[in-house]
Amino acid sequence: MGLKELFIKESKCEKCGISIPKKDLAEYDTTHQGQNKYGNIKKVCNSCLMEMFYDSLKSFNETAVVISPIQGMNAYVTYNFDKLLNTKQSSHTMEENNKKFINELIELLPQNNTKCSCCEDKATYTWCSSELLNNDPFSWEINRYSGLEPIYLCKKCLINKFKEEMEKENIRFELIYPPLKGDGFICSWEI
Ligand SMILES: [Zn+2]
Ligand SMILES: [Zn+2]
Repeated sequence: MGLKELFIKESKCEKCGISIPKKDLAEYDTTHQGQNKYGNIKKVCNSCLMEMFYDSLKSFNETAVVISPIQGMNAYVTYNFDKLLNTKQSSHTMEENNKKFINELIELLPQNNTKCSCCEDKATYTWCSSELLNNDPFSWEINRYSGLEPIYLCKKCLINKFKEEMEKENIRFELIYPPLKGDGFICSWEI
């Protein structure tokens, strides 16, 4: 391969400007795949991707259930409960299943007076192991037998926990839909 081809395959991170192989650029998508018309898609390097995601967790002013990232899954996406509950499904059974799943997640949200289990600040996130979804975010089913206690965390402690997990499991994301507005849940996905 000549120098010219090498050059063509390099691309710049839209945040920090570093030049990296085009295939290594990740997508930070605040349109949530076009659902939010005021958002945009940024092609960024991995460290900018995570920095932007952590900033979004810091500035998110509502509550969310955060399900630990799953090794081998390359995307991490946010769902809004209200939007999900108002989405028409193709069948009545699917609609009932979704509603059940979403309501079970809503029950896990921290309440107004819930304290962070690490530092006693106000908790706005609930951290759950991916066992809660049987390690399968496509199933949309809660594993009632996991015996896992949700951990309520403030923004700062949630971000620390997340960083720890990313390092421990050696996870890299190629796509993130950050939390925007409204209570919801965040979990792994595959693209
Ligand atoms: Zn960058
Ligand atoms: Zn805390």
